[in-house]
Amino acid sequence: MGLHDTLGRPLHDLRISVTDRCNFRCVYCMPSEVFGRDYRFLPRRELLTFEEIERAAGVFVNLGVRKLRLTGGEPLLRRDLEDLVARLAALGDLDLTLTTNAALLAQKARALAEAGLTRVTVSLDSLDDEVFRAMNDVDFPVARVLAGIDAAAEAGLPVKVNVVVKRGLNEQSVVDIARRFRGTGHPVRFIEYMDVGASNGWRLDDVVPASEIVAAIGSEFPLEPVDAAYRGEVAQRYRYRDGKGEIGVIASVTQPFCGDCTRARLSADGKLYTCLFAVRGHDLRAILRSGATDDELDAAIRAVWERRTDRYSELRTDDTSGLRKVEMSYIGG
Ligand code: SAM
Ligand code: SF4
Ligand code: SF4
Repeated sequence: MGLHDTLGRPLHDLRISVTDRCNFRCVYCMPSEVFGRDYRFLPRRELLTFEEIERAAGVFVNLGVRKLRLTGGEPLLRRDLEDLVARLAALGDLDLTLTTNAALLAQKARALAEAGLTRVTVSLDSLDDEVFRAMNDVDFPVARVLAGIDAAAEAGLPVKVNVVVKRGLNEQSVVDIARRFRGTGHPVRFIEYMDVGASNGWRLDDVVPASEIVAAIGSEFPLEPVDAAYRGEVAQRYRYRDGKGEIGVIASVTQPFCGDCTRARLSADGKLYTCLFAVRGHDLRAILRSGATDDELDAAIRAVWERRTDRYSELRTDDTSGLRKVEMSYIGG
C-alpha cells in the first residue's frame, strides 16, 4: 500500500524551502561571486504563501509523508516562520524539523518550540572562528551559532549538527567538532561535499570521503557502527564506545544511497523536485493557484512520484557534475 515510485521507494519525507535567500554566502553553497548584488532572487509574489504551503503539505501527509523539514536558503529569514510551524504541526503526528545556519536561532528558538517544532538541525562547519568566518564568507562569528544551539536546547528542542567537509578548508575541524559535541546529546552529521547546483565549482578532489572522517574521529575516540533506525536513513551512524553519544556520516558521493531515497522537495516557488540533482521541477503553485481541488493536487503529486526514476548519485561521473542543475539554496539541501 501507499505511494511508491518506479523503484519501489515510498514517499516519506518532504523538504519545504521557504525562501531562496540567505544571510550567509557559504563557499560550498552560495559563492559570493555568483550570489552577489546582481543575483536575482525570487520576488515575494512568486513564493508560496503559508496558506499554500499548509495546503500542499496536507495533501503530502495524506499521501504518506511523515517527516517535514523546513529549509531554504535560510528559513529563519522568512518572517513569522513560527506561524507556518504552528499550521504544519496541526497536520498530525509528524516529525517537523528545520535546518538552519542558526544566525537568528537564539531569538527564535522558544517561539518555534512553542509553535510545535519537534527538533532542529544546525549547520556548523568549524569551531575555529577564522575558518568559520571564511566559510560563511560574511564574517559571521562561530560563538553566535553556538549560542543558537544552546538556546534551542534550552527551549527543549533536540539539536543535530550538520558539518559539510571540504578538502583543504575544514577537514582539520572534524575531530574538534566531534570532541566539542561528545557527551552533549547533540549528534553530529558529517556530510560529503556534493556537486549540487552549477556555481560552487565542485571537483571530486574536494570531497573528503566519509571513511576518512570516521577513521579520523575513531582514532581519537573509538567508534562502533549502529544499525540504521529506519529505511531511508541517509546517515551511517556510529556510537562512541565509551557511551558518550554518536556521530553520523552522509556519504552521498562515495557511497550513494539512492535506492533508499524517500524524499521529495518543494521549492520556495512551489515546484516539486524528486531529486536534489533534478534539472526541472513540477509546478504545484500553478495547480494551487488555479482553483484546483485537493483531489486534483493529490492526483498531480501521485503522478509525479509514480513516474519517479531518479538515482543521480549512483550515476554520477565527472561529466554529470557539469550538468545544469538547481542550486542548493533554491532547493534546500
Ligand atoms: N541555510 C540553512 C543551513 O545552512 O542549514 C538551510 C539550507 S542549506 C542549503 C541545507 C544544508 O545543505 C546545510 O546543512 C548545508 O550545509 C548543506 N549544503 C549546502 N551546500 C552543500 C554541498 N555543496 N554539499 C553538501 N551539503 C551542502
Ligand atoms: Fe545559506 Fe545554508 Fe547555503 Fe550556507 S548552506 S549559504 S547558510 S543556504
Ligand atoms: Fe535521492 Fe537524487 Fe540524492 Fe539519489 S541523488 S539520494 S535520488 S536526491
